[in-house]
Amino acid sequence: MSCVSVSVGVGQDGVTNRALTLLRTMLFSGRNKKLVSNSKTVLYAQPLQFYGQPPLENISLSEFESFAVDRLKLLKTVENLGVSYVKYSEQYSKKLEAELKTLNFPYRTEVDDPEKQRKDHISHFILRLAYCQTEDLRRWFIQQEVDLFRYRFNKLSCKKKLEFLHNNNLQYNTISVEEKNHLKEKLLISSYGINGVTLEEQDFYKVPFQDALDLVRTRKVYLKEGYAYIPHNEIVAIVLNDFRTRLSKALALTARSLPAVHSDERLQPLLNHLSHSYLGQDYSVQKNVGKISLEQIDSLAGKSFPLCMRQLHQALRDNHHLRHGGRMQYGLFLKGIGLSLEQALQFWRMEFIRGKVDADKFDKAYAYSVRHMFGKEGKRADYTPYSCMKVILSNPPSQGDYHGCPFRHSDPELLKQKLQFYKVSPSGVNQILDLVKGMHYQLACQKYFELTHNVEDSTFSLSHPNQYFIESQKHLGGGKDVKREMDTPQRSQENSAARGSSAAQEPAVNESQYLAEMTKNLETYF
Ligand code: SF4
Repeated sequence: MSCVSVSVGVGQDGVTNRALTLLRTMLFSGRNKKLVSNSKTVLYAQPLQFYGQPPLENISLSEFESFAVDRLKLLKTVENLGVSYVKYSEQYSKKLEAELKTLNFPYRTEVDDPEKQRKDHISHFILRLAYCQTEDLRRWFIQQEVDLFRYRFNKLSCKKKLEFLHNNNLQYNTISVEEKNHLKEKLLISSYGINGVTLEEQDFYKVPFQDALDLVRTRKVYLKEGYAYIPHNEIVAIVLNDFRTRLSKALALTARSLPAVHSDERLQPLLNHLSHSYLGQDYSVQKNVGKISLEQIDSLAGKSFPLCMRQLHQALRDNHHLRHGGRMQYGLFLKGIGLSLEQALQFWRMEFIRGKVDADKFDKAYAYSVRHMFGKEGKRADYTPYSCMKVILSNPPSQGDYHGCPFRHSDPELLKQKLQFYKVSPSGVNQILDLVKGMHYQLACQKYFELTHNVEDSTFSLSHPNQYFIESQKHLGGGKDVKREMDTPQRSQENSAARGSSAAQEPAVNESQYLAEMTKNLETYF
């Protein structure tokens, strides 16, 4: 079996230790085996870690992929739960524990299970590779990892927490008994969950206030001369701050080493899929081609298009033109809902010749790219409609562009106006804007779906504009004709068109088919 050697990270001394060593085909040597098993014993002896040491062992490509996909599912669940429930509430904890169990990650923090620890460790490092590439990706990854870490740290017993601090050399300055007695009244008044008895029992840590911003913001600690006085029961705040800082630095270091990964033709497409692409249903496989008429599009846009497509449709009708990014995003979406090539040509031609483009120019300059989208020109790649992840993360719109995701790319004030114009209630607008503020763009879009379709709790998890359309049609009961058959084989054949140059690239079909096996069912998480 093909194996890859994974070695990604930062040396103990904080200096990059070949931040990412080339992931290359290797076989175990006897010496390596011994080294690996020793390091495993040390690495996986604890129920939780800071991921300071990269994995050194060889793993098969299939394990590499399955670990990565499982962690992505887990992190997506962490994100969804964080929005749907009060973080760390009973319900939140129960659901997260169930997910950890199902995906075979460590969930009983008192019971050490080296195999689960190993999966936890390796999968974290694989996703570092995939999620170090842009600021947006890094921010998302750090947030979910920090939330996961907090949940797991809070689950540790007091003894294990102290062990964790000790093992990771986390020594925070405790104040002396004299100082504690001197500040007693102030600590009692200012510290959350502390009474006279617990004050006696607990150590207090004195840290620069910027290391405990969460506690300062929520007014849970005593502040004096730039220092926060943190009771032991809130120590997670400083540990998390440490974790966040380390992870952020590690991602920046990993990003510098990306060229090495990109030279590996087996890993690059996988990492791109993990970070940028939608890994579920392939909305290019049509069974309803030609089942919608061009006359239906205006009314469908108002009822069943997600905001990104509604915006593109409106801009096209108003300006009789869309730039390349808009034509690709909207054109592939229309193809996904069932427009045939002939219909698409007719649709774009009719609209463009209402503007400054005459029929001749359309045929020369634009018809080619429509046919290209349908795989009839150039490399004859059958391009897949863009997923939300792709729209949100790639090719941001500039002045005069209408593509992108309005929840991600619109100015909040403009978004507010748009939502009001589409008759979303004031409280609905606020809910959506809150989600946008928390960078939960797909959840904001799903809320928009719920509000505009008058449903309390939509049962799907939005990941794709075409999925939005199908769900809307199902809900409105008008989807019999345009509803796409849902039993098409899943392929994660997102075309690999990179940012801003989508027409020039071809999807790696074989890789995608292979990945599809690995990423089966992932769409339910997105
Ligand atoms: Fe479109 Fe997805 Fe953004 Fe909704 S979340 S507007 S479907 S890109």
